Amino acid sequence: MRTRLRICKTKMRFADQAAAQVVSAHYDQLVRPYRCDRCGAWHLTSRRKGKRIARPAASAPE
Ligand SMILES: [Zn+2]
Repeated sequence: MRTRLRICKTKMRFADQAAAQVVSAHYDQLVRPYRCDRCGAWHLTSRRKGKRIARPAASAPE
């Protein structure tokens, strides 16, 4: 699932993962940096789950 453009526009942007992690360290809650496929920059998400790392589609043999 792609990042929604609205979300992208309202979120902070970071040039790289390292920059995002520095800022995430200041948050009380657990936040994770992730690469945005809209703008190519990094955002922070506070969601613990739901953002899955893309995994190869397992095609079940019929
Ligand atoms: Zn973005």
